Amino acid sequence: DPRLQGISAAIRVVPHFPKPGIMFNDITTLLLRPKVFKDTVDILVERYRGMGISIVAGIEARGFIFGPPVALALGAKFVPLRKPKKLPGQVISENYVLEYGTDCLEMHVGAVQPGEHALIIDDLVATGGTLCAAIRLLERAGAEVDECACIIGLPKFKGRCKLNGKPVYILVECR
Ligand code: 5GP
Repeated sequence: DPRLQGISAAIRVVPHFPKPGIMFNDITTLLLRPKVFKDTVDILVERYRGMGISIVAGIEARGFIFGPPVALALGAKFVPLRKPKKLPGQVISENYVLEYGTDCLEMHVGAVQPGEHALIIDDLVATGGTLCAAIRLLERAGAEVDECACIIGLPKFKGRCKLNGKPVYILVECR
């Protein structure tokens, strides 16, 4: 797909952010280019249209940028998966392990009905820990996770096409 080249080129790599030694893949430069941002959304919509997906779940924070336009185009609901203590209603939570320490994702009870088909969206997959927690949340609520989609895959993730048995679709490998 010729559009992937433009997407890859529009992502800025910032060395030593947020701490020394980390190469941060910054998608805000992609958002500054409407054609490239649209190509990114279009590729996902083309892939998932007509598949019976009724939930697009986005992971805070950058899954909140790419998830909603995909949800609207698919005619699906958008479900935010948030960091702890952000959602006002009753929630279910999943903890996950980071390189240093742990983190948690929460989802509103009642956002998802048993048997619904879900797509999970985030900007980037590194170890896959975040996506695994998201998959567990949706499955605990009775949803069927059809696929996870990320704009960027880091080399850490290379070679793994599945997480918890669920396929992961990656648009571009990081440069
Ligand atoms: P994982 O759980 O797969 O190890 O890490 C993925 C999560 O970390 C995603 O939610 C992603 O937004 C964030 N993340 C880690 N490194 C980067 C990076 O270099 N750029 C961006 N945009 N997000 C990152």
